[in-house]
Amino acid sequence: MKILSILYDGGDAARAEPALLGTTENKLGLESWLQELGHEFVVSSSKEGPDSVFQKHIVDADVLITTPFHPGYLTADLIKKAKNLKLAVTAGVGSDHIDLNAANEHKITVAEVSGSNVVSVAEHVVMTILTLVRNYDTGHQQAITGNWQVSNIARKAFDLENKVVGTIGAGRIGYRVLQRLKAFDCKELLYYDYNPLSKDLEDAVGCKRITDLKEFLGKCDVVTVNCPLHEQTRGLLNSETIGYMKKGAWLVNTARGAICDREAVREAVSSGVLSGYGGDTWDHQPAPQDHSWRYMVHPLGGGNCMVPHYSGTTLDAQARYAKGVRQILENFFENKPQDPANVIVEGGKYATKAYGQR
Ligand code: NAD
Repeated sequence: MKILSILYDGGDAARAEPALLGTTENKLGLESWLQELGHEFVVSSSKEGPDSVFQKHIVDADVLITTPFHPGYLTADLIKKAKNLKLAVTAGVGSDHIDLNAANEHKITVAEVSGSNVVSVAEHVVMTILTLVRNYDTGHQQAITGNWQVSNIARKAFDLENKVVGTIGAGRIGYRVLQRLKAFDCKELLYYDYNPLSKDLEDAVGCKRITDLKEFLGKCDVVTVNCPLHEQTRGLLNSETIGYMKKGAWLVNTARGAICDREAVREAVSSGVLSGYGGDTWDHQPAPQDHSWRYMVHPLGGGNCMVPHYSGTTLDAQARYAKGVRQILENFFENKPQDPANVIVEGGKYATKAYGQR
């Protein structure tokens, strides 16, 4: 079989650190195993445009493996050309880089390594919330640029205690964020999700579900986005819905960049309507040099906690998703069923309830 994998280039870091498994150098640790089994394994980071390795090899690949960190965007057009493609594996969590409706039309299975990096992301969310709410970046900039003006930091620094924090999506990541926030004695922990948590899970963290988005956004001091990107969440946070948020609230999005409208976020941060925005996911990756989220600043400074997409690719997470990809391939080669938790679409239908209400 021909297996095509689109990963990010790790460069010197990946040559020096073999545990950087999700790179073109270390190939998810799969190369010798796949070669021993007699498969052709094509690995590259080249993914944009008709001359890219991705677009050239997808036409006769049987399996695609790609990561959300450097995704090969498998559009409906490319799916039409991918005559042999049977399985698309996401090395990580979040399969929105694949046109899932087109995958269904062509009966392609899409599987991801569910749970592999959910703690990694939840920890990053908590870090980002604290970084923004406490105005850490303004303080750090003073420290490393030789300045010292405490009032310019403190005028926009708050405690997380007694704030209302809400998550859009209370699945594996959203719930872990709530669990971790319990220790901060927030005023309320809220969630907005069409799949309700059980009462036991709600009681364990003391959270409450709000079913109306406008009401939910109006109650939160901090909103964290932890749902997949699909038709119903693309642009969910836009100028209208950001307008439902409290003035001066913080917005954290480690789910997918395109859930938040690029220009609406820039405008809200630059005008001070939001106190800050942070996350690691961008509406196109790698983010272009001139992406406004790289440069937006709150009128009082800070308010920007963006980083490249790495929250779910810690070394711990890479070990887990590399192992999970191998298991998915093994099941596929041996005609065994996949772990249902990993299957996003199969046999022409959505196997998960997380990609929208259908
Ligand atoms: P999950 O499937 O366990 O949970 C997702 C939850 O979102 C579900 O409960 C679902 O009902 C809910 N949801 C879906 N649509 C919604 C909507 N319109 N409104 C409210 N809630 C909605 O998934 P997870 O493991 O928690 O991951 C969530 C997402 O986080 C992934 O799909 C991915 O996009 C993103 N992610 C990012 C990184 C990273 O490195 N930044 C890593 C892993 C996952």
